[in-house]
Amino acid sequence: MPEERHHKVIILGSGPAGYTAAIYTARASLKPVVIQGMQPGGQLTITTEVDNFPGFEEGVDGPGLMEKLKAQAERFGTEILFDSVLSTDLSQRPFKLTCDSGDVYSCDTLVICTGASARWLGLPSEKELQGFGVSACATCDGFFFRDQEIAVVGGGDAAVEEAIFLTNFASKVYLIHRRDALRAEKIMQDRMAANEKIEPVWDSVVEEILGDPQKGGVNGVRLKNVKSNEVSDLAVTGVFVAIGHTPNTEIFGDALDKDDAGYLITKPDSTATNIEGVFAAGDVQDKIYRQAVTAAGSGCMAALEAERFLQATEGEATRI
Ligand code: NDP
Repeated sequence: MPEERHHKVIILGSGPAGYTAAIYTARASLKPVVIQGMQPGGQLTITTEVDNFPGFEEGVDGPGLMEKLKAQAERFGTEILFDSVLSTDLSQRPFKLTCDSGDVYSCDTLVICTGASARWLGLPSEKELQGFGVSACATCDGFFFRDQEIAVVGGGDAAVEEAIFLTNFASKVYLIHRRDALRAEKIMQDRMAANEKIEPVWDSVVEEILGDPQKGGVNGVRLKNVKSNEVSDLAVTGVFVAIGHTPNTEIFGDALDKDDAGYLITKPDSTATNIEGVFAAGDVQDKIYRQAVTAAGSGCMAALEAERFLQATEGEATRI
């Protein structure tokens, strides 16, 4: 039987922003509920080692870090639900959420931490080799490719920025782009052109990522030149896919203000959205920094703002 339940605070998403919001609201005795979403633990669960989250001098594996954040949130009484929200009604308070399981939840305040999903090429080999040389995060995984030859796929600012960043480690970085002109800003293009370690591979798409997860991971990419149709193999040990991110905001329809790329717009120095009582934190509202630690920071902000909102509106909200 589908359930109908009401909570003061519901947090959507279980990445660093969601669990941090949970830790803070739970410590404020608000008994938050986290609805984990399609990818419990968020994007960090698809990376290997995380070396840049403060407090772990030896690094920490992504899934391990998320387990710790989850356990910390539970320790203070957060309820964590393995479910995902299919639709929302934010037209009035309490806000209403309908889940995949059929359960319906209502809440006085909603903290949205649904993140953004890296776009992938959609190749089976890409999926098989994720964490074994295929990554969508240079900041997270670049360090593991010291003195190796690797490839970045994409032609936007992110791809160029990642390629430049990766030259701190790799001996050579091929930038594979499907056209012969970059979408990235001119200044980024100039920086790339000045970097001798980066070699562009124009008019080319990745047909296959070569390698075996059990035998050393990635060892190359199969490329097709879209103009000549020529197919060739390029030896690389890492492939960074940087073809954009999609913020996970479809379930809010047009209720919340979004920018052109679909990211939720929050007020300056705040996580408040255009709807009172709805806050957004982490990658769903941040296309610039996209780091676990910045997501956690904005999760904390959202929790504090949600707490203040509840104090200010106590007694106003009704139950379903
Ligand atoms: P973009 O959408 O700007 O670029 C995506 C790139 O990937 C494009 O070059 C596109 O090719 C290519 N691409 C898309 N799909 C495929 C596919 N299926 N196969 C092969 N290639 C594909 O995304 P970014 O993540 O680069 O940037 C997102 C936003 O964030 C932008 O507004 C950007 O300016 C901003 N940003 C700014 C930074 C900065 O200022 N330092 C750093 C990073 C991002 P094509 O060009 O042919 O469409």
